[in-house]
Amino acid sequence: TWWIENTTPEEFRPIIKAGVEKWNQAFEPLGFKNAVVVKVQPDDADWDAGDVRYNVLRWTASPSPPFSGYGPSFVNPRTGEILGADIMLEYGGMVGRLWRFDVFTEAGMLEAGMDEEDAQLEAELEARPAREVLAEQMNRCHAGAVMGRNSLLAAAAMRSYKFNDEEHAEFVRQTLHRLVLHEVGHTLGMSHNMHASTMLSPEELKDAAKVAEHGMCNSVMEYPAINFARNPEEQTRFYDDSPGPYDKWVIEYGYSVGLEDDVEEDARLSAILSKSTDPLLQFGNDADDMRSTGRGINPDVNIYDLSSDPVAYAAERCELVNDLLPSIVENFAPGVDSHQEVVRAYYALTGEYATQLRVMTRQIGGVRYNRATPAQLDGAAPYTPVSEADQKAAMQALSTYAFAPNAFDAQADVLAYLQAQRRGFGFFGGGEDPKIHARVAGAQRGALAHLVNPKVLMRILDSGLYGNTYDLAEYMDDLTESIFKADLRTSVNTYRQGLQLMYVEALIAALGEKSRLTGVAQSVVLAQLRRIDRQQRDASSPDGLTRAHRAHVRHLIDVALDR
Ligand SMILES: [Zn+2]
Repeated sequence: TWWIENTTPEEFRPIIKAGVEKWNQAFEPLGFKNAVVVKVQPDDADWDAGDVRYNVLRWTASPSPPFSGYGPSFVNPRTGEILGADIMLEYGGMVGRLWRFDVFTEAGMLEAGMDEEDAQLEAELEARPAREVLAEQMNRCHAGAVMGRNSLLAAAAMRSYKFNDEEHAEFVRQTLHRLVLHEVGHTLGMSHNMHASTMLSPEELKDAAKVAEHGMCNSVMEYPAINFARNPEEQTRFYDDSPGPYDKWVIEYGYSVGLEDDVEEDARLSAILSKSTDPLLQFGNDADDMRSTGRGINPDVNIYDLSSDPVAYAAERCELVNDLLPSIVENFAPGVDSHQEVVRAYYALTGEYATQLRVMTRQIGGVRYNRATPAQLDGAAPYTPVSEADQKAAMQALSTYAFAPNAFDAQADVLAYLQAQRRGFGFFGGGEDPKIHARVAGAQRGALAHLVNPKVLMRILDSGLYGNTYDLAEYMDDLTESIFKADLRTSVNTYRQGLQLMYVEALIAALGEKSRLTGVAQSVVLAQLRRIDRQQRDASSPDGLTRAHRAHVRHLIDVALDR
């Protein structure tokens, strides 16, 4: 039995109750009726919500919440049996407020925090026993924060698409159901499944009948992109609102009634486990996912992505952002006292855009693993590099949305309206003017960091020996071309100047003493620097900024090559 804390707003109580009780869909096939029951803590209850004897869905609202929903559970250390659990539902997750980052360059970009957290984790692993650190990690859940960010995007989109009250209510219902299903899932013993979001193709996600069949993801334990359709006629669900096929399978294994006889019980459990190769039951957890730069190898196991073609899905999401950005001033400024909501919508939209650029990069040098037994694989290899066509499609999308001279043009008309507040103090050292170049550079750096990461470059070389046909020289040629080619005969705008310098500096670092590249990979990097230098020498410079920029690029290369 779960109790909804008596401080929870009335209007959310029935939604939370219905959401949590949907876990019964996983228990009913096992013969349990009403395995999960939700009641409301009476206003005159003589027990406190913190009482360990009660499992409580706590309602919290804090100014800078670390999470927007998480489920600490108390486990019997001898058996692993879960004795009790509380879940914190953070108000911010519902209303779509801005999380944690309030600096202009990083607001709405959760990944910067994730890269930081990853670095912290590495440092902790050096200092403390791995078991201890990883055990703490297992309990960490960002679902609320991730959904909060998604809700910001949705809030901006719903305003533009003029959702009515009924449509808003449906959005809130799906969001809350998904959040409580995920958090209660942890307390039932489930870990994350970051492979879950690849179950359907982009077309299938637009097909209501297909989505109704098994849901959008095979599990509610994933952090997927919100499924907000660019074309309203193609809108199916925003989020899954009931347990998926993978969830039901895990619950069957963990909770179905055992048999007395040990041999028969072993056979029964083996029969359940033998379904692990079913395409509907794909799994990969936090240890495998590619959320941080350079980490993980399998692009199917990632967060913030959706569909079996995450690049196409991400490209459509970038188009949605570009559709919405130009109208945020007319949608968010009238009728309120400041431009603060315009700024918030800008953060939400451009933050999502940056996220999707990172999703695209994970295909490059990607290798899919299969952890089935040799017998289950039946001769197939456990490692399969991502196809050249898929890697090239990712490069094409990155070229268009991250690197092209006009990639960030959709925001041009709103930049002069990005005033966060009307007060004349509280800006500290930074000044109140929007730092546009820094924000765009942040988005580009997020993508580029993975594309030139030594682990990725070395994997391209290694996987070339077992099936990857996109070789390192061809890949680096494509990358250099998408960053330099378009403006060799024209002036170079200042976003592109920043990008080109960032890329050249990354190449130079890859040749440096601390580089983790082998000599073979460094040869390819060196060839790119020489090529860039020749191109810059022969390029046209119609204006002073461009002339200065090209000289700077060549100067960096001269110094690096000690000429
Ligand atoms: Zn979680």
